[in-house]
Amino acid sequence: MPFTPLHMGPGMAAKVVLGRHFSLVGFGVSQILIDLEPLIRMVRGDAVLHGPTHTYLGAIPIALLAMPLTRWLYPWLARLANFQLSAHRLAWLRVAPQAGWAPIIAGCLIGTLSHVLLDSFMHSDMHPLAPFAEGNAMLFVISLSSLHVGCMVAGALGLAVWVTLRFLGRQKATDPD
Ligand SMILES: [Zn+2]
Repeated sequence: MPFTPLHMGPGMAAKVVLGRHFSLVGFGVSQILIDLEPLIRMVRGDAVLHGPTHTYLGAIPIALLAMPLTRWLYPWLARLANFQLSAHRLAWLRVAPQAGWAPIIAGCLIGTLSHVLLDSFMHSDMHPLAPFAEGNAMLFVISLSSLHVGCMVAGALGLAVWVTLRFLGRQKATDPD
């Protein structure tokens, strides 16, 4: 997807559904890693932008790379987020200082696999089932505008529910994000 941040919409919705079992940070790190290939290919002027990283098989090693990276980055990001939240009197939104491996594994795997699925609706140069099958049966099954609006609505609703749950104390600040 040319707009990697749009993937965070479904990620936010997944966070609300899966709670402490899902790391949104891991999901986000995996979105950035998986879109490095099309970014580099775009800069190089390649005809095909979505290669091995944008297949279900290629998504797995990307997730495996994202896992230790998330584990390392998480405490720094949490410290930064909590500092900002406290400074703005939003301490009730504080996030856990550490994330365990289980939510990180879930976040990264769901991150890269859902990325391939969502991108396969819109990129004609993708072969999501390669090397087992050629082509992309999902192309334009959903219109571009529906896909983009769907991602934004999922993100807005997910964020609203997450903030509400935090406010009500249903999702605890000790749960990793
Ligand atoms: Zn992509």
